Amino acid sequence: MSARELSGRQLSGRQLSGRQLSGRELSGRELSGRELAAEIRAATAARAAGLTAAGRPPRLAVVTATADEASAWYVRQLARAAARAGIGCDVTDLVPAAADDPASAVAGIRAALTALSGDPAVHGILLQTPLPGGAVLADLAGAIDPGKDVDGANPVSLGRLLTGQPAFAPATAAAVLALLDHHGVALSGRRAVVVGRSAVVGKPVAQLLLARDATVTVCHSRTVDLASVTSSAEVLVAAAGRAGLIGPSYVAPGAVVVDVGTNAMADGGMTGDVDPAVATVAGALSPVPGGVGPVTTALLLRHVVQAAGSAG
Ligand code: NAP
Repeated sequence: MSARELSGRQLSGRQLSGRQLSGRELSGRELSGRELAAEIRAATAARAAGLTAAGRPPRLAVVTATADEASAWYVRQLARAAARAGIGCDVTDLVPAAADDPASAVAGIRAALTALSGDPAVHGILLQTPLPGGAVLADLAGAIDPGKDVDGANPVSLGRLLTGQPAFAPATAAAVLALLDHHGVALSGRRAVVVGRSAVVGKPVAQLLLARDATVTVCHSRTVDLASVTSSAEVLVAAAGRAGLIGPSYVAPGAVVVDVGTNAMADGGMTGDVDPAVATVAGALSPVPGGVGPVTTALLLRHVVQAAGSAG
């Protein structure tokens, strides 16, 4: 992957409008991700077709090792989206082996990632979570070639992100920035608060916001008086995985709120971390579903064609 290809655009998303808007100007707006995702998908499909015509069909490999229904659903969705974009998608299913012997499953995952990293026909590799008991994503993801690390899970990718070097950002984190850019939300100099500090969402989102000159505060489960911190935000990103955690009293009037949370409901639906009543206070709010989620999938596939385009 070339530095030129990954710099700026990938790390910071796209500016759709020349003029950026403040929270108040966005008042009452829904930060939908559907239109942006469709644009990314169309561009990705065109690029995939070009690569295929040139004899380099782009290919994503997904490794899965625990029988988790939400993960299995996501992999099915991803495989369908890849097929629609003209991207091959293979799933290496280590679930039966992991069920028989969780300890040796970790060695099996590492071996699979190493083999896929060395396979020239594979351009992107995704290790699905959750992992078998005791396994740590950052540890196993170290076996993914950084050039194929399309979900930015390898600590090398995260280190490159931290130091401003070209790297694939975790797709969800990149999706938050792309969504904000798509809706013309100004970031430079603004107070941003991120709720959640995981290596896949919270920390990389904070890093990407920092790279865009926002002043960033990161909250977590030990943060004292969460509402007093979140209500200081002009841009608030909720990524805690706690349904309805962010209520109206947690949000400053006019703030821009991005809801990353995806929490399963008893009726089979999905809800975010942000109470829907926040829409009455916020200047703009991303929906769940239909906000960050579709952009995440679209960006992951865009990363695959970028990796394929950069592969020798
Ligand atoms: P995670 O690894 O469980 O991390 C959750 C983070 O939230 C942790 O840092 C935790 O703090 C913090 N937290 C939990 N409860 C809190 C509370 N009451 N107050 C403040 N902070 C709290 O989850 P994740 O993988 O980052 O995912 C976060 C959410 O995003 C989940 O709902 C997940 O399903 C969703 N997600 C969505 C997408 C998408 O494409 N839309 C993709 C990935 C993930 P500690 O560090 O102190 O434990």
